[in-house]
Amino acid sequence: MSNVEQTLSIIKPDACERNLSDKIKAIFSKNNLSILKSKKLQISKDEAAEFYKIHQSKPFYDQLCNYLSSGPIEVMILEGENAVTKNRDIMGATDPKNAKDGTIRNLFGISIDKNSVHGSDSVENAKIEIKFFFK
Ligand code: UDP
Ligand code: MG
Repeated sequence: MSNVEQTLSIIKPDACERNLSDKIKAIFSKNNLSILKSKKLQISKDEAAEFYKIHQSKPFYDQLCNYLSSGPIEVMILEGENAVTKNRDIMGATDPKNAKDGTIRNLFGISIDKNSVHGSDSVENAKIEIKFFFK
């Protein structure tokens, strides 16, 4: 049975800055994830804090919010079969050191904080995150 989902992807400042957007989009396309909507923007620290509020008790929260608001990002709605888990699989592990060969974070990630992409971790959070950026 088919299970078409939508998920939110963010190309983070480190990847936007290195003009990796087309290379990352090519990986989505190769994996049958289509881009329904896309926009480039820069968010404020307060917006980053709202977006990442599930991490507010973590020691890396403040740095994470500074980072996500530090430069342009590209946000996209991806759609496809099992899009949430598929995107997580092709992103690779949070720490690029642990990301499998060929994943986006393996290819492009610099460090655990500058790990090039964000992807929603559940269908429920995908809905919340899509609404956050595409009202
Ligand atoms: N992060 C960090 N230090 C850590 C763990 C996470 O800087 O020790 C950052 C990292 O950029 C990560 C983001 O916080 O992508 C959100 O963390 P999460 O555990 O949700 O990882 P993800 O879902 O992005 O793989
Ligand atoms: Mg996460």
